[in-house]
Amino acid sequence: MTVQDTKAPAEVRSGAPDTEPRQLLRGQKALVTGANSGIGKATAIALGRAGADVVVNYVVGDDSAEAVVEEIRRSGVKAYAHRADVSNEDQVTQMFAKMVAELGTVDILVNNAGRQKDAKFTDMTLADWNAVISVNLTGQFLCAREAVREFLRRGIVPSVSAAAGKIICMSSVHERIPWAGHANYAASKGGIMMLMKSIAQEFAPHRIRINSIAPGAIRTPINTEAWNTPEAYHSLMALVPYGRIGEPDDIARTAVWLACDESDYLVGATLFVDGGMTLYPGFTENG
Ligand code: NAD
Repeated sequence: MTVQDTKAPAEVRSGAPDTEPRQLLRGQKALVTGANSGIGKATAIALGRAGADVVVNYVVGDDSAEAVVEEIRRSGVKAYAHRADVSNEDQVTQMFAKMVAELGTVDILVNNAGRQKDAKFTDMTLADWNAVISVNLTGQFLCAREAVREFLRRGIVPSVSAAAGKIICMSSVHERIPWAGHANYAASKGGIMMLMKSIAQEFAPHRIRINSIAPGAIRTPINTEAWNTPEAYHSLMALVPYGRIGEPDDIARTAVWLACDESDYLVGATLFVDGGMTLYPGFTENG
């Protein structure tokens, strides 16, 4: 019997040790988009624990954003919440200008904000399409552009980091795996892959590192119906060879590593953090 056959959703947790993190990001300034929920929230808190000052971007939910800020401040670093729609150019520009005014600069951008608006392709409206592309892809473009402008202005500060700046794009296994009924979402993530690689290529000579994380199935509000009943969880596990759902902290730890100098030679890569979802488990028994 496999692990996935024996565990109910609530009992299956990340096996990683809960150790005190080293201050790998001490003195760095990080902006996390969509940081009042799910993966962004866990990542913002983990960056703070690693010593970074953190801007918590969100678009709705003042209370949940303030709660994340409070949690980050418990690590003894600075944090504040900033409401901005990442698909709105003026709001993004103002968010970065305020961060430079408040914290001095930007060292790390986690381009995380994202959404789904699923529909059968023949029923998908232009509004459904634009809603997803404008946040998931255009939002990453707008935020990355502002971050790179600031990295270029400031350059490398060797006492802070070996790189002039780091961007982590939150992609998905659906930058690789087609997803019927979610053409807008899969197209946005495929677009992130080439956006990330193209700008990683353009700015690597300036010692700017741009990489992506491609999460598999992570337990967050974006996909509740995929894990919140035993039946749904069981069928989800058919796609996950490792036999458990991912937790937001699985992604947060990866983001901290990508943001720090321990990953200094990693440029233009996508890390699949997916419990083996992209190993095509349907082929395990000879296809
Ligand atoms: P979530 O719904 O918990 O969080 C999404 C966040 O994005 C929220 O804070 C939301 O308010 C924010 N957001 C949405 N529109 C925004 C806008 N216009 N401006 C600013 N913020 C906005 O979902 P999550 O699972 O934590 O998703 C985070 C990222 O991870 C997304 O890019 C998603 O595509 C990606 N991802 C998630 C999974 C998963 O299984 N949960 C898998 C692969 C990729």
